[in-house]
Amino acid sequence: MAKHKFENKGPHNTKLKSEKPKNRSQHKRKGNKLKFSIEDETVEIGQLRDKYANTKVEEHSKFSDFPLSRKTLQGLSNGQYKTPTAIQRESILPALLGKDVLAAAKTGSGKTLAFLIPVFEKLFASQWTRLDGLGALIITPTRELALQIFETVAKIGKHHDFTTGLIIGGQNLKFERNRLHQLNIIICTPGRLLQHMDQNPLFDCTNLKILVLDEADRCLDMGFEMAMNSIIENLPKQRQTLLFSATQTKSVKDLARLNLKDPVYIAPHESEKYTTPNRLQQNYIAIELGDKLTMLWSFLKAHPKQKIIVFFATCKQVKYFYEIFRKLRPSILLLPLYGGMNQEKRNKIYAEFCARSNVCLMATDIASRGLDFPKVNWVVQLDCPEDATQYIHRAGRTARLNTSGESLLVLLPQEESGVMCMLEKAKVPINQINIDEKQLFSPLVKIQSFLAQSPDLKEMAKRAFVAYVKSVALMKDKTVFDVSKLDLERYAKSLGLLVTPRVRFLSKIGGKSKNVNTNVKVTLDENDEDDDDDLFTVKKQTVQELASLVNVPSSTEPKKKLTKVKLLKKSMITNKKINFDDNGDVLEEEMRNDAYDIEKARAQLRLNDIDDKERYKNLKKAKRIAKKEKLKRKAEEDDEDRFGSDDENSVNLDWLPDPDKVYSIETGKNEQVEGNTALHKKSSKKRKIAIDVKDITLNEAECLAMNLLQ
Ligand code: ADP
Ligand code: MG
Repeated sequence: MAKHKFENKGPHNTKLKSEKPKNRSQHKRKGNKLKFSIEDETVEIGQLRDKYANTKVEEHSKFSDFPLSRKTLQGLSNGQYKTPTAIQRESILPALLGKDVLAAAKTGSGKTLAFLIPVFEKLFASQWTRLDGLGALIITPTRELALQIFETVAKIGKHHDFTTGLIIGGQNLKFERNRLHQLNIIICTPGRLLQHMDQNPLFDCTNLKILVLDEADRCLDMGFEMAMNSIIENLPKQRQTLLFSATQTKSVKDLARLNLKDPVYIAPHESEKYTTPNRLQQNYIAIELGDKLTMLWSFLKAHPKQKIIVFFATCKQVKYFYEIFRKLRPSILLLPLYGGMNQEKRNKIYAEFCARSNVCLMATDIASRGLDFPKVNWVVQLDCPEDATQYIHRAGRTARLNTSGESLLVLLPQEESGVMCMLEKAKVPINQINIDEKQLFSPLVKIQSFLAQSPDLKEMAKRAFVAYVKSVALMKDKTVFDVSKLDLERYAKSLGLLVTPRVRFLSKIGGKSKNVNTNVKVTLDENDEDDDDDLFTVKKQTVQELASLVNVPSSTEPKKKLTKVKLLKKSMITNKKINFDDNGDVLEEEMRNDAYDIEKARAQLRLNDIDDKERYKNLKKAKRIAKKEKLKRKAEEDDEDRFGSDDENSVNLDWLPDPDKVYSIETGKNEQVEGNTALHKKSSKKRKIAIDVKDITLNEAECLAMNLLQ
């Protein structure tokens, strides 16, 4: 894969800066780019079209045997792509013939080129120019995947004259807006595309020829349903549609939504025994929740020279595990990747992970789909995937196209049988392995001391804890995932927390709050990160599910008891003047309109109440935002030096006193105050420390520093 460049902002345009050609036939060769006259190209297109229906491809066919333009072939050759993979061999011709394609092929089997080649050829055969506007739209579920496809377009399509843009969230919207109408090929995430469709008068897709959904099943599932429906509604009906994924949708409803016309179903690996890559070695272990942290720490210690991805269920776990492991100074570089990060940081981390060879990426499922990180050795799924599809995509980040890799699935004992059943049905071969207890290193004592020193870290641990419990509660398959079976106390302890945090909705499930009414408040963390294309969207939609977990009978507002005081109040009539005689008998009764109007007062009170509530809400919101911003600023400041300075081989010992300095200062002082025995004693003690510092190990140095600080 090409080395990624991230200095670009906004639409990454391969050609936006070049001058608009007046007459294409006058083109000369520019740099190493192929240029042909219009007449030449028209002849070439005619010849290619004739070959589309007659070409027969065999197993050993090369790209050069395909009816492809010279520009595409040159691009492929520059990228060292000579022989097509199975999915490319089977899907390129039907796509060239203009058919709608529904393609399913294993992870890492080369689906990207299988749809990009027809995209180039289709526009080329239509002699598409910049003035024709948008010709191809490629939609993917995540920003990183869109970026990766964009890089491949830039590499393979560089001899073509199409303008290509990357339209993803987190970029400069105005910059994108002003250039969008000039693009021939757009690679985008659904949220951002819809934003442009809604807000940008320059966006015009009436000429669109070809629509591609990469990771199609994900693009079409619940999380993107509304965005995708709106996008599809706005696209012209007359177009070609290509759908690609490792776990393809066959849902008639999905296909109907896209108006597919007699789609060709292509699945070159369907008859194979397994759905996962052949060289992927898959393992699982069943351990208690409270042992997960120790397991992961020991795993990283045992694999310091490998490229690893660890998948977590939530952003907050990634944050906490990253922070705490970083403090423990592992011998491998750690990088976090999750949805709430700003795009620049996300890009930086993504690029760094691509480039390095011994590094561990701690990620949420934003990294589970489509990403082609080179040479990943291990994929660890620390938290159980929701279903077999999610498992296959996560594990598929390794063992890409004829390379080998290993994956480790970490299960809780109660999840084991259900998940095994799920994976067996999905034709996933997986073996159980056991952990050698001797190889486990628990960092718990250190973690506890870190937490004792840092309230921020403790807060992070609490959030990670709650987020995990919620993620289990939100799992669809309740036969496999049972939140009541989690040993929360041990889990909290394993994260370094001395007190188990309260998970509000759990106490409600447990029936502790019996008198809850239908307005029961299920508090999802306000800070749950999300963005337009975060894979967490689905989970967020299931808040209702969580509420239903609470199992509250509807309209059960208990009838209020009438007390004596209330009865008295009820029978009291306001504004009635009664005069009594000396014997206590009523003389006369008189109604007065000018006195206190209780109904009016009540209404006023109600209004005031609403005002107060609103004000209180705004105040709380403002406080929350201020707090969030403060934390964000702090995190950003921390990160600035963190990402640059962390190196797997270097341990920062700057904070230790310089032994030479201490030694020389002390000896210098000694010379000056010769005779002063008390000081001499003190300095000789310091000198001893200074000498010791030179030859102690890192662990001893840390203990020593702690003692000194105390
Ligand atoms: P998928 O989308 O099926 O998961 P990708 O398109 O990301 O797979 O391709 C996986 C890897 O295979 C990429 O690194 C890509 O460069 C490489 N690749 C794709 N097609 C070929 C080919 N024909 N020859 C050599 N390498 C290829
Ligand atoms: Mg892909």
